[in-house]
Amino acid sequence: MQTANSKSSTLSELIFKQAFIDGTWVDAQSKANFTVYNPLTQASITKVANLGAQDVELAINAAQVALESWRSKLPSDRARLLMKWHDLILAHQDSLAQLMVLEQGKPYPEARGEVKYGASFIKWFAEEALRDQGAIIPPFAKGRKLLVLRQAVGVVAAITPWNFPNAMITRKCAPALAAGCTVVVKPAEDTPLSALALADLAIKAGIPKGVFNVVTCDREQATEVGKLLCTHPLVRKVGFTGSTAIGKLVMNMASSTVKRVSLELGGNAPLIVFEDADLDLALKGLFASKFRNAGQTCICANRIFVHQDVIEDFTQKLIAKCQNLKLGDGANPETAIGPLINPRAIKRVQQLLLQAQKDGAHILYGGRILDQNLQESKQGVFLEPTIITGLDNHSELAQSELFAPIVNLIPFNDEKEVIQQANDTPYGLAAYFFSEDHRRIWRVSEALEYGMVGVNDGSISSAVAPFGGVKESGIGREGSSWGLDEFIEMKYVMLGGLN
Ligand code: ADP
Repeated sequence: MQTANSKSSTLSELIFKQAFIDGTWVDAQSKANFTVYNPLTQASITKVANLGAQDVELAINAAQVALESWRSKLPSDRARLLMKWHDLILAHQDSLAQLMVLEQGKPYPEARGEVKYGASFIKWFAEEALRDQGAIIPPFAKGRKLLVLRQAVGVVAAITPWNFPNAMITRKCAPALAAGCTVVVKPAEDTPLSALALADLAIKAGIPKGVFNVVTCDREQATEVGKLLCTHPLVRKVGFTGSTAIGKLVMNMASSTVKRVSLELGGNAPLIVFEDADLDLALKGLFASKFRNAGQTCICANRIFVHQDVIEDFTQKLIAKCQNLKLGDGANPETAIGPLINPRAIKRVQQLLLQAQKDGAHILYGGRILDQNLQESKQGVFLEPTIITGLDNHSELAQSELFAPIVNLIPFNDEKEVIQQANDTPYGLAAYFFSEDHRRIWRVSEALEYGMVGVNDGSISSAVAPFGGVKESGIGREGSSWGLDEFIEMKYVMLGGLN
């Protein structure tokens, strides 16, 4: 739906270099900047304000000042502003997707899909805000009324990763804003531009100053900025998506002031192909889950357990299908797999593959690092889709979150054994399996120690469903009607003396 101010901006009109605090574009007080790189060319896109703790303190204070009037608005007024933001995001989806390709590298259709997916959280929570209801509890004594009010938690810090530069922000901020909280977003250093573009559209949508703030900084400053966000007494909740290591640190720091936390951390998803599976469906599911975003999602299938009876057939089909995956510039419509996010990620993958070979892995397909012209190069930006076999579940590669287009095939013989192996990891985010046996489907769904299970499908994410993990994959749920609870405090009010 096009509205008066929804005329789509061009890509260059959506590139902002300053942070966004209290409705104003600001530089760091130190005037420091950091460079945002294009992961394909490794060239600079632009420089962005590199904030320090004193700048972020201003953002927290602005969010606290804005809290009073934002949380006392009617939920329908907050919902109306959120829907304007949603409509503007959709009106600018092409430029937002181009911007995402530029700073993150994912193929354009995926980037556009993410912008729509990101917007879907705003719509969902704008609607949920209208339905959020407290309770009246039957009293325990005469002359008393027992009420439960649901109130906004307060100022929220959202610390987000680079793999979904748009949707990880909206998935946290939409429920926070709908509940009446104000937010300070700290986007990942690799992808601050999508976050700043969202801020521009938020202000155009009429979201009041101080309600949505974006503080940008580089990796070095993230320690100081992260510490302030996680320890500042005015911040009442931290929503974090990122690695388990930093998630533990966030939880630890947040404990100093007993903040609420929701953590969406690493995963090591098993994908199990049983002997009774529809193999074509399993391959489709594997491709959907494994190669999206060049394998750089926390719910990407990581360990592919395939029953001995079907592994040969499955592997042949897999290799044939991998030959159609084109590496390249995300802006090219033929590209299926873009570059990995940065040189650090390339180095990590090289080391993982080297160690895997020492541990007995055979590379059945791919395995080379390629530069942007698709020539083999140690300093390249792509990892070919890679299929390996010969590793057991305890090898370093099988126990790591891959974040790369690597298919690690592990054969198995029986259901009990594969469930035990699938659960044998500290992680517990997503799991997938393929089977045509309805009794097994129920049994295995219950037995997998994961927050999310995809059965006969590799795409599970939606604004309507609770996203989150168990064990070291996190705490709390994002999306769904439960997602709002993360930003709401229950207050018990007892009215006495009424007899
Ligand atoms: P990745 O390794 O994929 O970059 P991280 O967990 O390191 O994942 O990063 C996720 C987010 O956490 C990013 O926004 C990053 O800047 C931020 N971050 C990094 N270090 C810290 C820290 N010490 N405290 C708080 N946030 C941090």
